[in-house]
Amino acid sequence: MTAAADLVLTNAEVHTLGSPDETHEAVAVRDGEVVRVGRAFDVELLAGVETRVVDCGGRVVLPGFIDAHTHLPMVGRSLVNADLSAAGSPAEAVELLRERAAEVESDDETGDETSDDETGWVLGYGYDESTWDDSRYLTRDDLDVVSESRPVVAFREDLHTAGVNSVVLDRHADEMPDSGVQTAGDGDDGVGGDGGDGDTAGEPTGVVVEGAVDVLREATEPSREEMADLVRAAQSYATARGVTGVHDMVRGSRAPEVYRDLDEAGELALRVRINYWSDHLNALREVGLRTNHGGGSRGGLVTVGAIKTFTDGSFGGRTAKLTEPYADAAADPDATDEETGQWVVAPEDLRDLVAAADESGYQLTAHAIGDAAIDAVLDAYAETDDPGAARHRVEHVELASDEAIERFAESGVVASVQPNFLKWADEGGLYDARLGERRLRTNRYRDLLDAGVDLAFGSDCMPLGPLLGVDLATDHPNPDQSLTVTEALRAYTAGAAYAGFDEDRLGTVAVGNAADLVVLDESPWEADSIRDIAVSMTIVDGRVVFERD
Ligand SMILES: [Zn+2]
Repeated sequence: MTAAADLVLTNAEVHTLGSPDETHEAVAVRDGEVVRVGRAFDVELLAGVETRVVDCGGRVVLPGFIDAHTHLPMVGRSLVNADLSAAGSPAEAVELLRERAAEVESDDETGDETSDDETGWVLGYGYDESTWDDSRYLTRDDLDVVSESRPVVAFREDLHTAGVNSVVLDRHADEMPDSGVQTAGDGDDGVGGDGGDGDTAGEPTGVVVEGAVDVLREATEPSREEMADLVRAAQSYATARGVTGVHDMVRGSRAPEVYRDLDEAGELALRVRINYWSDHLNALREVGLRTNHGGGSRGGLVTVGAIKTFTDGSFGGRTAKLTEPYADAAADPDATDEETGQWVVAPEDLRDLVAAADESGYQLTAHAIGDAAIDAVLDAYAETDDPGAARHRVEHVELASDEAIERFAESGVVASVQPNFLKWADEGGLYDARLGERRLRTNRYRDLLDAGVDLAFGSDCMPLGPLLGVDLATDHPNPDQSLTVTEALRAYTAGAAYAGFDEDRLGTVAVGNAADLVVLDESPWEADSIRDIAVSMTIVDGRVVFERD
């Protein structure tokens, strides 16, 4: 007599998303594992008196989504602070920040102790000027209107650019690298504003980039309790979108500690594979934490992932490193930036880091968006013993050459890409402005898959939401690069699992695999709009972590 299941999902269309993708009527779960998948009759034999049996009414069940590139605390910050992704213009962004300023004000008055460390910061996250008619960065002139006494920061969606008010410049400009603080006369997008007296040449415009943004992030870093609140908010948001695991990028924050706190308390609602910033390499080596420690068969949802680094910036900030100049840099005679972007980490430094981390047995992952940056990472990985066995990854891989794609395939390096970035690749969009016709050669998913490259999907939380990514990947601005629904779903499940050494337990529905599942209201193979499909249930490790009422 077999022990009864804890949970049975039946009358469903269960897709294994294996190769081939098989469909079944039901799946049974016990002790966090899938114990049977097949015909409803056979699976329901495992239902005992204690078993929860869910009639899915014909709905689709998939392996849970794994987002291979997240910043969960950032998602939490947008949920707790001003969410500027909702703004349709600079004026709307300012209005959202004013509302947040009023909240911060009243928190301070009621003496809410948790806000002490924040010294009354008014923070907004996720603005994207490329979607605005008035397409420009937020400046100090905009943000001085929000508050003249409190520090105000509006982070751009990519986190490489932010707008600050005069209070922030007064308090923090000293700590910021000059290269990160734009001044009037730089000839960049942020300059000019409303043409007021802030235009004096050499005065900071309030637009800050890269290293200067890091200073702001450190200054506004949440305490352990605040971080726990952010993670709780973020995991609710993620599981409501069918996400059962994330590969989270962390740097100098309390997040790793808080993930383990919540896991130990049984409050963590999804799997977290932590990719640590290269700053932490020595500390990790010293305490003996290596890639793939934690989680796994021992239980526990937190695992040590890769060492994360940058090479270049973003197309939006014109800081992604290209082999040919930006299409709009040449048209801007005042541009002082390099016409081909900037190295955030120079190729020599990247090589040294890769060699050191690889030698100590770490998986590596490096942000590379421009073609020159992608080549630089592949060069650095090529000097390691076996980049494929180490599953070294490249994040973003937006403008990859034919040769680069071949090198991915030959070396086994994983391409970790974000299909939601395709929202910028349409005709007349941000990538069109920055890259011209090269926009059609960004995010070459079809070419990557056809070459045999391991493809993992993630969102970079811009915004977090796998079904949006699947929708965009199946309707690529360059139709030659579109994926089928099954291929796109696999990249968000098995593909991401592979990037985390988890393909034997996650990413497909199979007996013996962890019971990480999602139930969708509509079939992605049939829905008119995949991004609008509602999630009705999310299950992590056999536990129902989200259920729509
Ligand atoms: Zn990122």
